[in-house]
Amino acid sequence: MALTNVEIVDVATKGRGLLANKKFETGQLVLRQQPYAYVVMSAHADAVCHYCLASPPPDKQAKPLAKCTACKYARYCSKECQKKAWPDHKPECSAMQRVNPGKPVDQTRLVARILWRKQKDAESGAKQLVEIETLEDHLDKRNKEEKDALDEKVYSFGDYFTYDEMPESDQEMLHLFATIDCNAVGLNDHRNLQAIGVGIFPVASLLNHDCNANCVAMNNGTKLEIRALRKIEKDEELCICYVDCLNTTEQRKEKLMSQYYFDCKCQMCEDGHEIESLKHGLVREDMKEESIKYINQFSKDMLKRIQNTKDKQNWERMSNQALGTLAQQDCVISDTHVLKIAVLNHAVEVQSYLRRQDSALEFARRVADAYEKLLPPVHPTLGMYFMRLGILQWQLQQNETATKTLGKSASIISKTFGEDHPVFVELLGLIKQCRMESYMSKNAQRQFRLAKKKAGLGLPSV
Ligand SMILES: [Zn+2]
Ligand SMILES: [Zn+2]
Ligand SMILES: [Zn+2]
Repeated sequence: MALTNVEIVDVATKGRGLLANKKFETGQLVLRQQPYAYVVMSAHADAVCHYCLASPPPDKQAKPLAKCTACKYARYCSKECQKKAWPDHKPECSAMQRVNPGKPVDQTRLVARILWRKQKDAESGAKQLVEIETLEDHLDKRNKEEKDALDEKVYSFGDYFTYDEMPESDQEMLHLFATIDCNAVGLNDHRNLQAIGVGIFPVASLLNHDCNANCVAMNNGTKLEIRALRKIEKDEELCICYVDCLNTTEQRKEKLMSQYYFDCKCQMCEDGHEIESLKHGLVREDMKEESIKYINQFSKDMLKRIQNTKDKQNWERMSNQALGTLAQQDCVISDTHVLKIAVLNHAVEVQSYLRRQDSALEFARRVADAYEKLLPPVHPTLGMYFMRLGILQWQLQQNETATKTLGKSASIISKTFGEDHPVFVELLGLIKQCRMESYMSKNAQRQFRLAKKKAGLGLPSV
């Protein structure tokens, strides 16, 4: 498959990269890729289809996933998926039976899938535009601990893959394990809530990083789609952000160095961007140095404690801790401060959990306002957050406001996820229901929702 929209080039100091072959409008699809190989993460192996990554809805009436009767590991949502999966699953199925009841780690299963794919390519003579061997592995930059961990995986690989079929050199194996470390892409579930799979996309792997990236990569099922986050000129370099761009410069640089082994010199990191100062924002300019120091330390301590309480599922206590922390923070730092956003997010979560939707909505609105200041106008995190806010408003039967908020979300989601993404489809359904309900009395709305819930068509909770 030739590339039409992008061109592979050498970018100064960054190795290979992708350039725009033409102009792109905001939200326009730049690149769509099928994975070279992918696996479902073992933590989700029972819950999603190993072929299409769909998960059955949690209600009892939903058809459960069918198990592969041979390995009892792979699961499928339909006969069709199982059939389509078989050519790739066949060698894996034998491997799984070989190590049963042992479960190889995700990296081992992915590397095996890559090798089987390579064998297939060799048999059919298929050529890849970007060969996996040519991807960056940063092996020379690993410390001893990291190298030992990789060696470990290489040594035990043959138990799973069989030693007869293993490539000649350990070096080749080491390269593959190191390559997926820095190039594999997490595949999110259809509601974009968590990563459930991991795949390798050689062409998309060439996209370099920028903290203020002009593109975003999202998966829809197993395919990866790269879209423009803003207008892009012909010959501009296409970049995505490898880390959470809501983090501070220091946090981003640290993560990029430890996981991708480079020191980010992008404009956002170098120029002390105004967004960076918002992330350390104060309620007043003339705040005393010691108050700032105190609140920073206090916030960090409290965030640890809140997380602890959350792990213990002590919701009342978590709520008290979060609200107490916010009361103190409110005197010193602004809502865009990273340490405050983290607490606000906990507050939204725990208040929704305790069914205190009024309070949850109030905090969610503050997070949304902060995100609007910190993120570019078209960004998936912002789109997803407006969706969350809209659902909260809908739960409180504020249908008109909810319709507006969900509409805002839809306009961002359509540009970052695409209109055929399940999140966008779900959003349209929500908007339709909100509109319909806004013509009903409050009581009729309740009846209507109850009936829907009974029919297993309940709307998602936040
Ligand atoms: Zn399926
Ligand atoms: Zn099987
Ligand atoms: Zn940067």
